[in-house]
Amino acid sequence: MEPLSVLDMFKIGVGPSSSHTLGPWNAARRFISGLDRSPESAQQITIRLYGSLAKTGKGHGTDVAVMLGLEGADPVSCDVDAIPDRVRRIRGESCLQLPGGHRLHFSPETDIEFHGDRLLPRHPNALEFIVRFADDSTHNETWYSVGGGFVLREDEEDSGNDRPKPLPYPIETAADVAHWCRESGLSISGVVARNEESWRHNTETDRAVAAIWKTMRDCVYRGCHREGVLPGGLQVQRRAARQNRRLLDGAAYEDVDAWHRVIRERGEGFSYTLDWVSCFALAVNEENAAFGRVVTAPTNGAAGVIPAVLHYLLIFLREPDPALIRSFLFTASEIGCLFKKRATISAAMGGCQAEIGVSSAMAAAALTECMGGTPAHCLMAAEIAMEHHLGMTCDPIGGLVQVPCIERNTMGAIKAITAAQLALSSDPDQARVPLDGVIRTMWETAKDMNTRYKETADGGLAVHIPVNISEC
Ligand code: SF4
Repeated sequence: MEPLSVLDMFKIGVGPSSSHTLGPWNAARRFISGLDRSPESAQQITIRLYGSLAKTGKGHGTDVAVMLGLEGADPVSCDVDAIPDRVRRIRGESCLQLPGGHRLHFSPETDIEFHGDRLLPRHPNALEFIVRFADDSTHNETWYSVGGGFVLREDEEDSGNDRPKPLPYPIETAADVAHWCRESGLSISGVVARNEESWRHNTETDRAVAAIWKTMRDCVYRGCHREGVLPGGLQVQRRAARQNRRLLDGAAYEDVDAWHRVIRERGEGFSYTLDWVSCFALAVNEENAAFGRVVTAPTNGAAGVIPAVLHYLLIFLREPDPALIRSFLFTASEIGCLFKKRATISAAMGGCQAEIGVSSAMAAAALTECMGGTPAHCLMAAEIAMEHHLGMTCDPIGGLVQVPCIERNTMGAIKAITAAQLALSSDPDQARVPLDGVIRTMWETAKDMNTRYKETADGGLAVHIPVNISEC
């Protein structure tokens, strides 16, 4: 199993889906940049989407993602506000502008094929690129989007990162985490920090973590100040901005820091705090649904849980502090890595327990550590959070990452906070279910789950609430 970094778990990108948008986007980008012939000699590119990518690809923006990826757009830095115009230009001109400026005739209606009835053996999220060159030769590559924005080409076993192995604290299981924390006397985030140090200098990690936090913070702020209807045809109204206005009741602020201060000063009652946790999560996932810039945590569909709990910590419980933010994200990432290594973070493999359940477990452990819990308390909190997401299905209406996804993030955040408080007031030695046990259970449940409930939009809410999907 390849070692995973905090920077793998938290990837800055574009909504609405890490597996169906960010992954295919990165696959298209890597495909076009990896061609051993100049893109100028390409005459035609066809993309075939299989399985879950085909079934929910329209709603999840997979078609948009592959077009932008083929144009070489960077999901980390591209202008997200320009995406709708860019897609309109591609559709209107029937033309892709490949890296280097080559204009290629491209008709999204015929050059992107949806094969929902076909599953490739390795993963339900598969896509194939076929390029035909001027001399009539062709080249094709199959890629898999395996959850959380991770992608693998057919011939790759892992992402091929060149990080040195072994690490000072190699970790495969929660028992390993407990072992290394005991041996070293370090917290979970301390163990993670030592492992990260073996990959890059601390200042580089700090810079990357600061960028992750800034993206999360900006996303929450932006989502709390944007009104309107989300794209896609379901006519879902944004609610975070309305909630923000109601809760602040006309209070003035000029920037994000002042906004945090105003929120903090206006109360701390249970209902007020609860409303804010929901508001933060709604804000992120409304942005995510609108092709906004978000951080996978560990996925886009579940991107609101961790920022919501982190905002709760920094606004209502502790003074904002880069070291605290770093500890929170390090601990959260280690829990996410355990699920990725021993189960899945892909809804197409495991339903929503693999997204919201995992993000809730990550947030619960992180909050517990930041509130003074021991590593054993943190692992217990993660276990509690996941235990109460077991079996949760993925059935997004219209294949859009909106209903139930947006509200589901509020629930994941609240469960994380409850799990942390329960763990902190318990004796972890008395816990009957170890985290490894619940991870194994989650994976077995994933394998038993009917395919209809694994990001296919073939079951649950998706079949009972009809919607006409419109394009980005
Ligand atoms: S239902 Fe859950 S897993 Fe499925 S797309 Fe929505 S957030 Fe992701």
